[in-house]
Amino acid sequence: MRRSAHARKETEFLRLKRTRLGLEDFESLKVIGRGAFGEVRLVQKKDTGHVYAMKILRKADMLEKEQVGHIRAERDILVEADSLWVVKMFYSFQDKLNLYLIMEFLPGGDMMTLLMKKDTLTEEETQFYIAETVLAIDSIHQLGFIHRDIKPDNLLLDSKGHVKLSDFGLCTGLKKAHRTEFYRNLSHNLPNDFTFQNMNSKRKAETWKRNRRQLAFSTVGTPDYIAPEVFMQTGYNKLCDWWSLGVIMYEMLIGYPPFCSETPQETYKKVMNWKETLIFPPEVPISERAKDLILRFCCEWEHRIGAPGVEEIKTNPFFEGVDWEHIRERPAAISIEIKSIDDTSNFDEFPESDILKPAVSTSNHSETDYKNKDWVFINYTYKRFEGLTARGAIPSYMKAGK
Ligand code: ATP
Ligand code: MG
Repeated sequence: MRRSAHARKETEFLRLKRTRLGLEDFESLKVIGRGAFGEVRLVQKKDTGHVYAMKILRKADMLEKEQVGHIRAERDILVEADSLWVVKMFYSFQDKLNLYLIMEFLPGGDMMTLLMKKDTLTEEETQFYIAETVLAIDSIHQLGFIHRDIKPDNLLLDSKGHVKLSDFGLCTGLKKAHRTEFYRNLSHNLPNDFTFQNMNSKRKAETWKRNRRQLAFSTVGTPDYIAPEVFMQTGYNKLCDWWSLGVIMYEMLIGYPPFCSETPQETYKKVMNWKETLIFPPEVPISERAKDLILRFCCEWEHRIGAPGVEEIKTNPFFEGVDWEHIRERPAAISIEIKSIDDTSNFDEFPESDILKPAVSTSNHSETDYKNKDWVFINYTYKRFEGLTARGAIPSYMKAGK
């Protein structure tokens, strides 16, 4: 049984390797997302007609940020293709200009877009999304991975409205906001965010939502969801993902995340200083249970909920009534309406881009420059396939936590 499964994986690997798919095998239908290093498109595979999401990462952008080393260093994840809680990855390939990831298309859109549409979520809706995300995070922890970049933009919704974690970690290390050096030489007299601090919660939420998408596209990124210990040299463990979930839960109920500020530097300071800055605005009432759980997620990792195991989280009073065994089969808190397999109505509109046009290079790198640097990406394609087929055993070098 084990043997034949192994043999099957081998053949699958060989088959995938042999297919050598390329951009010409897909038709691009629409831009559905934008990130710091490229974009995500709805595409259709020409021979089968199947619809996928294609993530395109521009090599030049990643090189220009001088962070290429991180691509592999941060590539400590995989695609556990069998998990219901993680976006399925099908193929990857590259050409001179870009890296391409072909994954399942999740028509429900992402949690960031949902939160921008609604002022706040109800406690019941929040219970549902946080509970599903608890199971999703736990599933990757059980595989030995730490996500480290849990945020609403990385929580996607499938056609029935259930949560899946988007492919993770790929660019995390590329963003300045995730690197301690970025904050190290902070001048001490940075402009204070007086204006922000003095806003009432309604205006804060408006300001947050207005700037939010820009933040998602920027190569700096946002430190809003990152646990304080991740910034410190002393190390971190999988509990950092529970902190991020606490920040998201706060945002769902209050309308903006607890440490949001006018600049990433200011946010960073607030995260590090969470004992003073994590407060609940009195004008937005939430239940004691919700407040308690947020404070159990957002505290020192030594005392954080989940330290003894995920059961501690599941049995927290905030989750009373959750059917942990069947939550994914039951109706979602907010149902998704989809008219066809390629329905993109749950996504924002993005202008067409020329990322797929054979480039008139806009940067001053010459083509040979990229060629010479291609070695940087060589392992990339390979590791993807390996991840795809390594369903049981995960090579130790791919595991997080070093
Ligand atoms: P990262 O979050 O790792 O820094 P990124 O922001 O460049 O990378 P993603 O977050 O993976 O890229 O994708 C950007 C957006 O594209 C998502 O927020 C989501 O709206 C959309 N998207 C990504 N993957 C899918 C998918 N499989 N199905 C549908 N939409 C997707
Ligand atoms: Mg993103």
